[in-house]
Amino acid sequence: MGNLNNKIALITGAGRGIGQAIALKLAADGADTAIVDLKPEFCAETCEKVRALGRRAWAYGADVSKAASVEETVAKVLADCGKVDILVNNAGITKDTLLMRMSEADWDAVLDINLKGTFLFTKALAREFVKQRSGRIVNIASVIGLVGNAGQCNYGASKAGVIGFTKSVARELASRSVTCNAVAPGFIETKMTAGLSEELRQKMMANIPLRRLGSPEDVANAVHFLASDQAAYITGQVLTVDGGMVM
Ligand code: NAP
Repeated sequence: MGNLNNKIALITGAGRGIGQAIALKLAADGADTAIVDLKPEFCAETCEKVRALGRRAWAYGADVSKAASVEETVAKVLADCGKVDILVNNAGITKDTLLMRMSEADWDAVLDINLKGTFLFTKALAREFVKQRSGRIVNIASVIGLVGNAGQCNYGASKAGVIGFTKSVARELASRSVTCNAVAPGFIETKMTAGLSEELRQKMMANIPLRRLGSPEDVANAVHFLASDQAAYITGQVLTVDGGMVM
């Protein structure tokens, strides 16, 4: 028996990377999962791995930055699964360049997916959580939202926005026993960071007290805790998972 038996977790951007690791961690503790990625076929690998753990998995194609797509997806998830207990807003992108070279399109794309996407999915499920008098919302922010980074003003703004959003939603939904927290990963080995030069990697590593990059599983462990009953008295918090980079 897992602690998350009979719970349904919806994870966005769960086709690969951190989102996939979160889905597998929650499933390993008993949750059934609604896997959301841009196209349903991108969800296939994660669904297969969740099923291999003996849990149910449903695949949904949705663009988190489009209200109609999000609303339609949430309606389908509720029809298929009956409810949602845990929402993990994980889908995110980067479009890095220096401020003076950044196009309006690069700004809009990152804000739309990282911040507006988090708003749209949270809004679409808020009524259900309030009716249920329970619910766990975990938003994936980033340490860049706390300390900033040259070349990432769009990304940093989006993730700082996610943190402000998290705290406001936490205050709004607390009276209904719904919690809303953020996890702020540091430098995690995924496709998002695979393209970084060796030089940049070494430079970043020098700033990580624990002297290694994080794994998607390191992030998933923190999300699992915040999604569990053990975190019932924790809301509006930002948990950094960064090897001690920001302290
Ligand atoms: P990733 O490997 O690039 O995975 C991101 C996932 O989000 C992909 O499956 C992607 O789908 C999906 N996605 C992108 N745009 C979407 C949209 N409009 N609608 C639905 N899904 C969409 O990235 P990751 O490293 O796992 O990152 C996951 C989260 O962690 C992000 O929010 C990121 O900002 C955050 N984070 C990552 C790091 C890090 O070091 N990796 C550090 C701090 C925070 P496609 O396959 O179609 O592209």
